[in-house]
Amino acid sequence: MIARSDCVALDEGDELADLRQEFTLNEDEIYLDGNSLGPVSRAVRTRVNEVIDNEWGHGLVRSWNSAGWMAAPTRIGDRLAPLIGAQPGEVLVADTLTFLLAKLVGAALDQRRERHVVLTDVANFHSDIYIIQAMCARAGRPITVKTIDRNTLERELNDDVALVELTQVDYRTGESLDMKGITAKVHAAGALMLWDFAHSAGAVPLDVTDAGVDFAAGCGYKYLNGGPGAPAFMYVRKSWQGILENPLPGWLGHARPFDFELKYEPAEGMQAFVTSSPSMIALAALDGALDVWDRVSMAQVRAKSLALTDLFIALIDERLAGVFDIVTPRDHARRGSQVALAHPEGYGVIQALIERGVIGDFRAPDICRFGFTPLYLRFVDVYDAVDRIVEIMTDGSFRDGRYKARLAVT
Ligand SMILES: *Cc1c(COP(=O)(O)O)cnc(C)c1O
Repeated sequence: MIARSDCVALDEGDELADLRQEFTLNEDEIYLDGNSLGPVSRAVRTRVNEVIDNEWGHGLVRSWNSAGWMAAPTRIGDRLAPLIGAQPGEVLVADTLTFLLAKLVGAALDQRRERHVVLTDVANFHSDIYIIQAMCARAGRPITVKTIDRNTLERELNDDVALVELTQVDYRTGESLDMKGITAKVHAAGALMLWDFAHSAGAVPLDVTDAGVDFAAGCGYKYLNGGPGAPAFMYVRKSWQGILENPLPGWLGHARPFDFELKYEPAEGMQAFVTSSPSMIALAALDGALDVWDRVSMAQVRAKSLALTDLFIALIDERLAGVFDIVTPRDHARRGSQVALAHPEGYGVIQALIERGVIGDFRAPDICRFGFTPLYLRFVDVYDAVDRIVEIMTDGSFRDGRYKARLAVT
């Protein structure tokens, strides 16, 4: 039996324990939803206030030059690059994820004009599927979007496939896909590979350089803690820059925006993928949120993430055997930083837990999702969260009639 005191001992030996104090957390709550919206950190407040009070407040329009606002999307991209194994000059921070996927899908389709199929995962996040379909419908040639079982990818690949888009960690099940192996197979068929890192960046170690990834994009507000609706990031491998064209060009991606020329000419590097004015307050929040990553390596984060999810799975096995179906792979190589428990009344389970101060979320049709974020979670939090789950499953409160109607955000 795992005891609470074992978890206290784990916390005492945790080299990341100090980082928790950087974040604002409610002391009477256990936050297992950092995979959906990360909490605010001290450095976010400092940086946002600096932009409001000094750069905007006093500098006003001069700050576009003097505070480096124009360069912020590429400068913050460079800060984020090591988290995904990218090189300086390969990452841009802008827009939100669905918009960046639109740019990358549109651009990729232009590079494979003789091909007519795009493959994506039938279990993918709906927004990815919507934007892929919309971009394909407007590609100027007939393109079929096939939503496939990702395990059949190899069979579906052929010389008519232009692009494959997959989410590297499944948002429901938490399964982590073999980025390098899949990318190699896609390339062997002559197709391009676009990875969605929404549930990967800041959650699992990634090496886009080693994996030979063409393009990728991910969220700023999940494991990166950049704030609600934070700017997203996109990666374009160096060898594609100058070739790949932004299908949504705007003035700030022009080589000389202040020449006001009528003919579009892309800027060099990732700047070509900027469309509009950088959202400086939102970028400041993300910039501040990245400070904490200067103090940890992804290897440390991964080690603690696996220890936390291992502990959670072991406690569920030990104390609630047979109550839930543990959907997340037990194999470390295939696990992201969340654990998904399937239960027919999963929505009620999550609502009852939230009322007892354990914040997870629900993903239809039956997944209770718990995110484990090593920067601020303790091992005792995992123990206490399972205590609450045991409580609500034992007293039946998850069946309460109040949970029959779902809120707008689940
Ligand atoms: C969260 C998420 C999105 C949503 O991104 P927006 O920034 O709201 O456009 C897209 N895809 C996946 C896989 C996600 O998890």
